[in-house]
Amino acid sequence: MDIGIESADVLSDAFIDTKHLMGGAVMGADPDKSVTDLVGRVHGTTDAWVVGASVFPSGGIANPTFTALALAERTLGAIGGA
Ligand SMILES: Cc1cc2nc3c(=O)[nH]c(=O)nc-3n(C[C@H](O)[C@H](O)[C@H](O)COP(=O)(O)OP(=O)(O)OC[C@H]3O[C@@H](n4cnc5c(N)ncnc54)[C@H](O)[C@@H]3O)c2cc1C
Repeated sequence: MDIGIESADVLSDAFIDTKHLMGGAVMGADPDKSVTDLVGRVHGTTDAWVVGASVFPSGGIANPTFTALALAERTLGAIGGA
């Protein structure tokens, strides 16, 4: 793949300080555009949950672990109330 200096600069600007894998199973309200609902339950299921950085709908602007942990705590709360 040819990625010129100009393209590399655009990528660098876009990701700033967070270059981690995430977003493989994004959460969202619309089942057509996301894998889980807003608390991490897989759309169309009653007891399949996704916990981790894969539910991030975007990359954010900082390193992801604290956000992943906060989302996990919220998902665990939802599981407890399910
Ligand atoms: C070198 C490095 C440095 C980092 N430094 C920082 C930092 O300073 N600050 C920060 O906030 N973040 C940092 N991160 C990012 C942070 O580690 C990740 O964002 C965080 O670990 C993501 O958590 P997760 O639970 O989504 O994924 P992971 O921690 O990757 O957990 C996924 C788990 O799923 C398991 N798994 C995978 N496939 C399957 C399967 N098929 N069946 C069962 N289990 C499976 C894996 O074994 C793993 O245990 C760093 C990452 C790296 C690689």
